[in-house]
Amino acid sequence: MDNAAKSVTLEPGLRDAIVALIGQLRLARDGNMPGQVRFNDEDPELKALAGLINDILGNVRSEVDHLQDVNRDLDALVRQRTAELEHAKTLAEIGSTQKSKFLAQMSHELRTPLNSIIGFAQLLLDSKKEHLSERQSKQVNHILHGGRHLLGLINDVLDLSMIETGKLDLNLEAVETESLISESIEMVRPLIDRDGLTFENRTDPDIELPGIKCDFLRAKQCLINLLNNACKYNTPGGTVWVETKAFKDDWVRITVGDTGIGIPEARQHELFRPFSRLGREETGIEGSGVGLLLTRLLLHAMGGMLDFDSDEGKGSMFWIDLPRTERPVSSETVLEMGPVEIEKRPQGVVLYIEDIASNVQLMRDMLGEYTDVQVLTAASAEEGIALALEQLPDLIIMDINLGGMNGIDATRYIKSVPSISNIPVFALTGDVQENTRARCEEAGVAAFFEKPIKVNAFIDAVCVVLDQRLGRFL
Ligand code: ADP
Repeated sequence: MDNAAKSVTLEPGLRDAIVALIGQLRLARDGNMPGQVRFNDEDPELKALAGLINDILGNVRSEVDHLQDVNRDLDALVRQRTAELEHAKTLAEIGSTQKSKFLAQMSHELRTPLNSIIGFAQLLLDSKKEHLSERQSKQVNHILHGGRHLLGLINDVLDLSMIETGKLDLNLEAVETESLISESIEMVRPLIDRDGLTFENRTDPDIELPGIKCDFLRAKQCLINLLNNACKYNTPGGTVWVETKAFKDDWVRITVGDTGIGIPEARQHELFRPFSRLGREETGIEGSGVGLLLTRLLLHAMGGMLDFDSDEGKGSMFWIDLPRTERPVSSETVLEMGPVEIEKRPQGVVLYIEDIASNVQLMRDMLGEYTDVQVLTAASAEEGIALALEQLPDLIIMDINLGGMNGIDATRYIKSVPSISNIPVFALTGDVQENTRARCEEAGVAAFFEKPIKVNAFIDAVCVVLDQRLGRFL
């Protein structure tokens, strides 16, 4: 057979047919609908060829038709799905804003009565004027204990929700590792002593630790949580230990260990489930089962990790890994303000602007217990400002969530009126959203206190202000 290429000269009719066919096939290739091929030729063979070509083109047409239908359907489906997703996203955004608002509101609503419960219970226990019987003391201690437990739970749930909605503000900075650890241990020292546990610092004393990049308060919250658990789930005479070391160039690992009851292997997978207590709810050990989850999420938010190892009956180890950084300036150079020793009871005039009667009573009792100040009260910002202008008090204590003008706007106003602008304003609020403090400070408050009030710190601050204003405690 001769396979050599041959030069063929096509007859004009056939050539036209091929050119027409190529043209239509190009159209089809480019996604267009091909037409029909016509020849002006009477040759029966060319007619048959044209028929064949048109059959083929017919098939191609119906294929293109079908593909265009599918395309249209897909397009409609994509549009429908996009619209549905956008709708769902909008709803989720509305939902998340509503949820944060709801939680902030809820936390305020819950903190207000808690403020009374914890504050009055503390006053009853601390009162030097009226002493409680031993039985009453025990009962009031239960109230205080329950109130603080509830407060911790509200704070944890609010934190979880802020993490979930991406609203958690973190102040990531270089933190001195030793300060972080020693301050956290100090917080659980009373628990260690109460339960007769031994504390061991297993950190190599010859190694200088690097700093940690984290939010100091949040990292402390995480460590305290682990240390608390190491105490709570310990056994009589047991040990709580901490070991800190730098590892893998970029990390600092803080391990909190205990020689306690441990966690059964079969239940370890439940450890980070919210409200899961792994059966410990029956032991009488207090808890709510959200601490570890919150600790892990807070660490993730700071670029860190939490992991653990546990042996039932022998003990547990939980370790925190956080990114290392340069050692910051030693905190020893920063002056610590200790509690003020009140030798003489301060005097002066304090204006308290608050719309909840039980809070007003609590403040009166609290100031009455520790000071000889005259307490003026106003149930709204507007009334409070009028009273401040008239009486020129030495200190204004301002609730933030007031009906009508709120406490932040009221502070801003006070700071803009020359005759009262120099009166210090203390903000007092149950709204612990991260930006409330910043907004209060920006408005010009001298100090910010969360409800429930920590009585000692608050009274110390009142004394300092009155001392500075009056230059004396009479
Ligand atoms: P809580 O202690 O409030 O119950 P956590 O979230 O801190 O909540 O811990 C969840 C559960 O994990 C605890 O209820 C307990 O069963 C277990 N657990 C946590 N830490 C330890 C520990 N150090 N030793 C033994 N069990 C622990």
